[in-house]
Amino acid sequence: MAEEYDLVILGGGTGGYVAAIRASQLGLKTAIVEKSKLGGTCLHKGCIPSKALLRSAEVFATAKRSEEFGVVTGDVTLNFGKVQERKNSIIEQLHKGVQHLMKQGKIDVYEGIGRILGPSIFSPMPGTISVEQKNGEDNAMLIPKNVIVATGSRPRSLPGLEIDGDVVMTSDEALQMESLPKSIIIVGGGVIGIEWASMLADFGVEVSVIEYADRIIPTEDKEISKEMQRLFKKRRINVVTSAKVLPETLQKGDGVTISAEVKGEVKAFQAEKMLVSVGRMANVEGIGIENTEIQIDKGVIVTNEFYQTKESHIYAIGDCIGGLQLAHVASHEGIVAVEHIAGEKPEPIDYRLISKCIYSSPEVASVGYNEDEAKEKGFNVKVGKFSFRAIGKALVFGESDGFVKMIADQDTNDILGVHMIGPHVTDMISEAGLAQVLDATPWEVAHTIHPHPTLSEAIGEAALAVDGKAIHG
Ligand code: FAD
Repeated sequence: MAEEYDLVILGGGTGGYVAAIRASQLGLKTAIVEKSKLGGTCLHKGCIPSKALLRSAEVFATAKRSEEFGVVTGDVTLNFGKVQERKNSIIEQLHKGVQHLMKQGKIDVYEGIGRILGPSIFSPMPGTISVEQKNGEDNAMLIPKNVIVATGSRPRSLPGLEIDGDVVMTSDEALQMESLPKSIIIVGGGVIGIEWASMLADFGVEVSVIEYADRIIPTEDKEISKEMQRLFKKRRINVVTSAKVLPETLQKGDGVTISAEVKGEVKAFQAEKMLVSVGRMANVEGIGIENTEIQIDKGVIVTNEFYQTKESHIYAIGDCIGGLQLAHVASHEGIVAVEHIAGEKPEPIDYRLISKCIYSSPEVASVGYNEDEAKEKGFNVKVGKFSFRAIGKALVFGESDGFVKMIADQDTNDILGVHMIGPHVTDMISEAGLAQVLDATPWEVAHTIHPHPTLSEAIGEAALAVDGKAIHG
């Protein structure tokens, strides 16, 4: 069977399926090839399941301190089976939603492993896609005018640190745990490691985080890392930084032990389970890249700002091109690629203006340069900071740790970055993103009157604080 298309998308994750919907809106005859499940990592092994578990952990932790709010509940216990059931039903509901969107957009979905072929009887150019179909049908041959590679990424491990999926896990296996361990070692204090540390600590698991850098979440502003580390310590999460895990010391038996070199000293760690969260690798193998001129650099596909590879009719988006490996980045890259294919003139993405979120407790959200980056770029930096401790709504919530930090340019008054740690900041960062897209000044943000009492007042106050004029600070 051979079928012609305007566009075939390899991979139906967030990047791929959103690209398909945009393509259908623009009238392109489109197909998606997906070897597992539509929705990809984000829906099945990433954003959604992890946030569902985080929410259960938050409810559990809040219920345990309910008397603080005058609510007497008696013993609070956890039914982890039900926690997993809830997570799975949310995934299922959203999965059905994506399937429906494909039908609605008249997008053909091929279930199977897709591979790019070189020049063939079907086309003198590389790009024909062969699909090894899951349902036992013969291989399908798709002949597209354009291709988008959106094959995503998978967890990375450390050389020598073998993942067995039971005692030593990545986030993929951890999401499927049937019961909670008593204790866990988390190798890697980046975004995924920190979310898991926070969630498991809220569930009552004893957590140690071992991080190679000199601070956890090292890509965030230094003050945010410091505050997170302080709050983790308060929650008895053992955070060890400047620590190089020694994979050869891994021992499994009754649980797991491993040593790490911490500031010149070798220290041993012991727990029931281990979670390795040391980043993700692009899926670029086994998809026929060798049949094309597509370039791979440092393990990711190389593209221009419209996501064209060296083969100008083959595009690549999302986690498989590296950079910010986030769902909203993948989907937006997909939209830009499709609009470029359709001959529209999309704006290239300004990656500095992309908001990044961590859904731990407390949450972290940021957009733009952090203070060190702004200084390194040569800006004459001024900073406004405002604590949630002085925000009425935060006290009402019983969650007043953290702050909002706004960084601006003394010379032009431009906002250079906004960094937040505290309650619900992931839902508030878009205001800071919009302010930067619209080139707003701190004064303009402050004079966008923030309703009282809301957590967003902290943004208005931080904006005023940039010029030393915070009202409640
Ligand atoms: P993917 O979602 O990985 O999709 C790629 C798809 O391609 C997969 O479905 C795969 O089966 C398919 N595929 C691969 N090869 C082939 C082939 N040869 N043929 C057919 N199909 C193929 N991001 C956020 O923005 N917010 C979050 O809160 C967040 N939380 C996360 C939590 C965790 C634990 C993890 C692991 C990730 C998280 N992410 C989060 C990152 C986010 O999931 C990814 O950035 C996003 O899924 C990337 O989308 P994508 O379309 O590039 O790739």
